[in-house]
Amino acid sequence: MRVLGIESSCDETGVAIYDTEKGLLGQALFSQIDMHARYGGVVPELASRDHVRRVLPLIRQVMDEAQTGAEQLDGVAYTAGPGLAGALLVGAGVARSLAFGWGIPAVAVHHMEGHLLAPLLEDEAPDFPFVALLVSGGHSLLLDARGLGDYAIIGESVDDAAGEAFDKAAKMMGLGYPGGPRIAALAQQGNPGRFRFPRPMTDRPGLDMSFSGLKTFTLNTINDLGGAEALSEQDRADVARAFEDAAVDTLVIKCRRAVEQTGHRRLVMAGGVSANGTLRERLASQMDKRGVRVFYPAPQYCTDNGAMIAFAGALRLQAGEQAALPIEVRARWPLDQLASL
Ligand code: ATP
Ligand code: MG
Ligand code: FE
Repeated sequence: MRVLGIESSCDETGVAIYDTEKGLLGQALFSQIDMHARYGGVVPELASRDHVRRVLPLIRQVMDEAQTGAEQLDGVAYTAGPGLAGALLVGAGVARSLAFGWGIPAVAVHHMEGHLLAPLLEDEAPDFPFVALLVSGGHSLLLDARGLGDYAIIGESVDDAAGEAFDKAAKMMGLGYPGGPRIAALAQQGNPGRFRFPRPMTDRPGLDMSFSGLKTFTLNTINDLGGAEALSEQDRADVARAFEDAAVDTLVIKCRRAVEQTGHRRLVMAGGVSANGTLRERLASQMDKRGVRVFYPAPQYCTDNGAMIAFAGALRLQAGEQAALPIEVRARWPLDQLASL
């Protein structure tokens, strides 16, 4: 089965073709980051309009790359939520129109299920059940993933998402957007002991997380040093290091608990923050000690992309799922409300 996937939930237009026999045949991504940078964040209306501009040329490009004509496609998958409603509607409208015109089924994919399944694109794919840590720009979730579509939320952030905290801390330091990769790079040069940030919500039992306190701690530390403009390059690196250490330790502690609670021997991590090298290293070493195997996507599939949507869509189409007639998107859509297959 060969499926075209379209991702347009936020500020990336992603397109890919996945074949259940041959794997990924082609993919392309256009990021709007530069366009939104001058506004300091994503402007929803601009995002929607840019998806309109990009999506058809990207589809043509990917079909060429995959040497796939419409007659070779068995379905079209699209992100139906959660995300920006206008942006989602662009992908949904195009996907549904193409599927209708080509006479093939369409399938609505949950963006976070896309992230969650991205590690399954790798050669060594994890089997269910597993614990999943989803850490992205809008979500921080711990899941008990029991099967395809059968996800119980066992922990989540009570305030900011992990990626959001990286982005906000970076902004305070004048590092620009997206903050995650920039903080990660700077932290390499930072002294580990100079500042110590708290590990929020780790002093009591439970799997919920909180990241907004780290933001406040970052701001206070910057102010104590005389404000963002007064920071030396070393100050910045030291603050970045303290922030990253605290965020990573917090996530690792929660993962340790989730593995103990569920008894699962596999841990899957996905979403933009799962690209973080320090997180990968520390999680792997902690899980190694417990005989738990850690899986994560290749770096280009950690952040938003079309491949994860084509892949998740292919699995759902294979299981017989098909989008209902009305073209609907859901800006909010809890991950534990999916149809299990
Ligand atoms: P969601 O998937 O929740 O809707 P999103 O699609 O915006 O949100 P992703 O594209 O999965 O999120 O990830 C983007 C986030 O990942 C940003 O917050 C970014 O700062 C963060 N990120 C990317 N690379 C790294 C890194 N190396 N270290 C830490 N954070 C990172
Ligand atoms: Mg993005
Ligand atoms: Fe995402």
